Amino acid sequence: MRIVIENAAIATVDGEEAGTEYTAGHVVVNGNVIEAVGEGKASDGPADRRVDATGCLVTPGFVNTHHHLYQWATRGYGQQSTLFEWLVELYPVWAGIDERITNAAAVAGLTRLARTGCTTAADHHYVFPRDGGDVFGATVEAARRVGVRLHAARGSMDRGESHGGLPPDNIVETTDGALAGTAEAVDRYHDSSPEAMVRIAVAPCSPFSVSDDLMREAANLARDKGVRLHTHLAETLDEERQCLAEYGCTPAELADRLGWLGDDVWFAHGIHFSDDAVKRLGETGTGVAHCPTSNGRLGSGFARVRDLVHAGSPVGLGVDGAASNEDGGLGVELRQAVYFARQNKGPHSASARDGLWLATIGGARCLGREGEIGSIEPGKQADLAVWRLDTLDHAGIADPVVALVFGVLPPLRLLLVGGNPVVEEDRMVTVDEADAAVALRTASRQLAEKR
Ligand SMILES: [Zn+2]
Repeated sequence: MRIVIENAAIATVDGEEAGTEYTAGHVVVNGNVIEAVGEGKASDGPADRRVDATGCLVTPGFVNTHHHLYQWATRGYGQQSTLFEWLVELYPVWAGIDERITNAAAVAGLTRLARTGCTTAADHHYVFPRDGGDVFGATVEAARRVGVRLHAARGSMDRGESHGGLPPDNIVETTDGALAGTAEAVDRYHDSSPEAMVRIAVAPCSPFSVSDDLMREAANLARDKGVRLHTHLAETLDEERQCLAEYGCTPAELADRLGWLGDDVWFAHGIHFSDDAVKRLGETGTGVAHCPTSNGRLGSGFARVRDLVHAGSPVGLGVDGAASNEDGGLGVELRQAVYFARQNKGPHSASARDGLWLATIGGARCLGREGEIGSIEPGKQADLAVWRLDTLDHAGIADPVVALVFGVLPPLRLLLVGGNPVVEEDRMVTVDEADAAVALRTASRQLAEKR
């Protein structure tokens, strides 16, 4: 299948700062990869499909670097809570998830991501109720159905209340059980090929729900299997206080001690880092998933995005789980990231193009896929978002990137993942949204009743 998209503004995001942009250009897709991109019409050649994208902006598909898809069924809880208060309220609700509920939540969450320009999604799943069935497989199945690339981070918790952890004992695994389950997930699903639709990461949940042994052994397992490492780190000052009291060091120092810094690691949030920690993360190439909406909802603080990027850390954007981000769309995070940075450090600290950069190539770097996705360049995977800027919402904004990032999130003319249409004319091609809504409502109600 050869698809020719023409007459569109194009932001390729192919550079360190602002990448190459075209005002009226073309993108040619051949099979699952990008064949050509440039100004003007595409050179002649057969086309199975020609898209006249006049009035549209083409960007790379967005990359979501942190999520908990199962939480789509537990939105609206703990509305004015700190992270720890919120967790204590939600753990007992999450204890009720099973594979059917998780599947309904994941289909809904991934649909929302696709509808907001996302073509690759990382998910961090760390709740495995004993009678819940195959909740991890249920998420992988949902991603296959929706048609979005999935980086499924196999989470775990082995430190319940009786061992000084935050989660109740009935939702944690044993250390050996968590490691065995994680190894099995890698063996069953991980695909290292450039066009991979599913990759697995090793992802114990957080320092306050996981033992040191599990953190160390998880790092060994990931490096043995050649997959990436992910966890929550430095999200709140409560976490820092607990870490200092318990270990006599900051979360970043603890991560260093446990072998958790490196260019195969990305952390969720990474808000409360000292200058030394930022430097250390940068020199080790450790990545950060910046989740501004979730950080705002929980009042957790401002991540040092600019400092981290300058130090050498890959930084991408994440929506985080829908229980702390009921919107769950990736598009709005671009604006949130820019406005957060400006609110903290003034208007010169971030541009609309910085937002686009974080959402695309920044995220691809976090996931170790900068050679395959995250920019529009020949040879890369054909993950493309074609945004309509020709409606009343954006009329008169001359700069298409400013229109995308600062304006209303535009309708999607087309979203391609590996050359396959997932969204057409702002509607899902792959799933029936009305059916997905019915399944989600049922799942949410059942969870609330189980409580
Ligand atoms: Zn999270």
